[in-house]
Amino acid sequence: MPQYPDLLKPESEQRIVLPSGLEVELPKTSPLFRKWTDPLPADTYNKKPVLEFNGEMVFAELAILRIFERDGWEGRWIDSFSNKYRIGYWGEDTTKDLPARQTAIPSWDSIRALANCEGGCFDVFCWRGGSVMFAEAKWKAHDTIRLAQRQWLQTALDAGIPLDSFLIVEWGFDSPRTGKSRPPLSKELQLSVFRRDGWICRWCNRPVIFAPVMKYLERELRKSGRIEPLSYYHAHWTRDGAPLLDELGAVIDHVEAFSAGGTHNKKNFATACNKCNGRKSATPIAEWNKRFQRKPIKGKYGEPQHWDGLSALFLILAQRDRSGLTASERDWLKVLGEAVADCS
Ligand SMILES: [Zn+2]
Repeated sequence: MPQYPDLLKPESEQRIVLPSGLEVELPKTSPLFRKWTDPLPADTYNKKPVLEFNGEMVFAELAILRIFERDGWEGRWIDSFSNKYRIGYWGEDTTKDLPARQTAIPSWDSIRALANCEGGCFDVFCWRGGSVMFAEAKWKAHDTIRLAQRQWLQTALDAGIPLDSFLIVEWGFDSPRTGKSRPPLSKELQLSVFRRDGWICRWCNRPVIFAPVMKYLERELRKSGRIEPLSYYHAHWTRDGAPLLDELGAVIDHVEAFSAGGTHNKKNFATACNKCNGRKSATPIAEWNKRFQRKPIKGKYGEPQHWDGLSALFLILAQRDRSGLTASERDWLKVLGEAVADCS
């Protein structure tokens, strides 16, 4: 069972009665997602719940797809209602056909036929190496498994797809206790946490990296004529697309998970690397300290005093050409610029 991403590790089973009368138990995981707190776009696909994943506005199916992508899988949201294979929803280039061939998967043709928009297929179809995965998104207490899906599941199992290639993702919002979604963190506050912690992961003590800098490093190399694949930056910090960020991208973590009653203030925030953040997820802090923490790094000659996560480099590179900056990067530029001015 090692193939599931950390954030979607099954922790229980869902019993499903197939149309034939046979009962199967599918691996089930129950992640908590954040509600999108900024204004909603006009089109929310007939009022589907809108979530935030890594700063991106997504539906649950896309959040699940992103988690797999970050773990090196490729995949599609099988959108049966509009009969499309999706990799996004808003913006350009949001649909993409399934590849005609996957050499690592000899039975690709029959699997491809199963990943069909019309046949009750599970919502998210992914593949990596020789493995495939079908994940079904269920909003906790809102959705159930439909008959068409049970029929499809029977066909897929009959075709020889193993049980651990399926996953029921029964997701909920990450603040069931209060019913409130957590407010977004300002960039000023994020930066003050990163600087307070010296850009070091609270959990494993590894130095973290300010992710936007990698995009601009890649841009510099492109400008100087390099055309080879670089894997410096990928919007979703996937392992294949941005191995450094997949490990060490800087994020803000709640020490006590917000969903477990942790407060939303600076004392409860910690700098974390992407790996620890993914592992910790909503694990209560006592449990995390006992079980999951990565082995902390110890420096023979002491701890770093001047590491800045390459944030100063971002300031220089991003200022060279402001034309391509996203709104979020412009904010960072402003906040980092002010922080530098404060120090001088
Ligand atoms: Zn870490």
